[in-house]
Amino acid sequence: MDLRIGCHVSTSGGVQKSPQRGAELGARCMQVFTRNQMSWNHKPLTDGEAAAFRTAVAKHRMGTVMSHDSYLVNLCSPDPDKHEKSVEGFCAEVERCTRLGIPLLNFHPGAHMGKGAAWGIQTIASTLNGVCERFPDSPVKLVLETVAGQGSTVGRTFAELRDILAGVHQPERFGICVDTAHVFAAGYDIATEAGWQKTWEEFDRVLGLGVLAAFHVNDSKVPLGSNVDRHALIGRGHIGPAAFIRLVTDPRTRHVPMFLETPAGNAGYAKEIAWLYAAAQGEPGDLPEIAEQKRGY
Ligand SMILES: [Zn+2]
Ligand SMILES: [Zn+2]
Repeated sequence: MDLRIGCHVSTSGGVQKSPQRGAELGARCMQVFTRNQMSWNHKPLTDGEAAAFRTAVAKHRMGTVMSHDSYLVNLCSPDPDKHEKSVEGFCAEVERCTRLGIPLLNFHPGAHMGKGAAWGIQTIASTLNGVCERFPDSPVKLVLETVAGQGSTVGRTFAELRDILAGVHQPERFGICVDTAHVFAAGYDIATEAGWQKTWEEFDRVLGLGVLAAFHVNDSKVPLGSNVDRHALIGRGHIGPAAFIRLVTDPRTRHVPMFLETPAGNAGYAKEIAWLYAAAQGEPGDLPEIAEQKRGY
C-alpha cells in the first residue's frame, strides 16, 4: 500500500472544489468539513454537488477522504435537548458522507460535563448503537478520535476508547484516529524512541492495531501530559521531528492515512507533506521553513 499523506482541505466555494485543492498541495488523502463545523445550520447538499465531489475525488486520485464531524456534537451531553441535537447532527453527517462516498467519519467521542467518565462511555456507546440501527447498511466507518483530555472530554486513554467499543453492538463499523498532538498531551510519550515503542505496544494490547483507521499528524505546543489541545508545526513543538519520521516508517503505522491539522496554511501544508514523503524514503532533510498561520478549523 502506498503511503497516504495529506491534510485538512478547505471546502470554501463548495465541497466539490476540495479534491483539486488537495491535489495541488501534493496530498494523497484529505480531511474535510462537509458543512460549517461551528454551526448547527447548513445548506442541504444537492445531488449535483455530491456527484461533482465523487468525480473530483476520482479525477484527482485522492486516496482516502475523511470527514471531521462538527465540534458542536456531543454524543454524551447530559442535556436532553443538546443530546438530541447532537444525535440529529451526527446522523445528518453519516448521511452526507454516504452521499459523498466518504468512507471515514471522524468525531470526538464526547464530554460528560461532570457526570463521570464511566457514564460518558456508556452513553456514547448506547448513542452510537442507536445511530448504527438507523443506518444498518451505511458503508461509512465511524472513527473515534483520541482527545487531549481537556475538561470532561472522554477518549483521553486507549482504555476509555476500548470501553466505548466494548459497548457497541457492531464494533466492525468503528475505527480509531490517533491525533499525535492529542495523545502526547494526554500523556503518551511518543517523542522518545522508548515511549514510541511503549505507546504502540499498549495500543495493540488494549485496542488492537487492526482498529487504527487514521492519523491526525500534528506537533504539540504544550508538553507531555498537559491535557491541552494546541497543534504545532511538524517538528517544531514538544514532540519533535523524530516521532514523525517513525510514524511514516514504522510498519505498524505507515500504511494508515495521515491528515495534517497543523497551523501551516496551504503553502505550509505542501512543504510538510513533501517533508513527510521524503522522511518515508529515509531522506527527511531539514525541516521546512513555514510562517505559522491561524488555523481556520
Ligand atoms: Zn478533531
Ligand atoms: Zn485532530
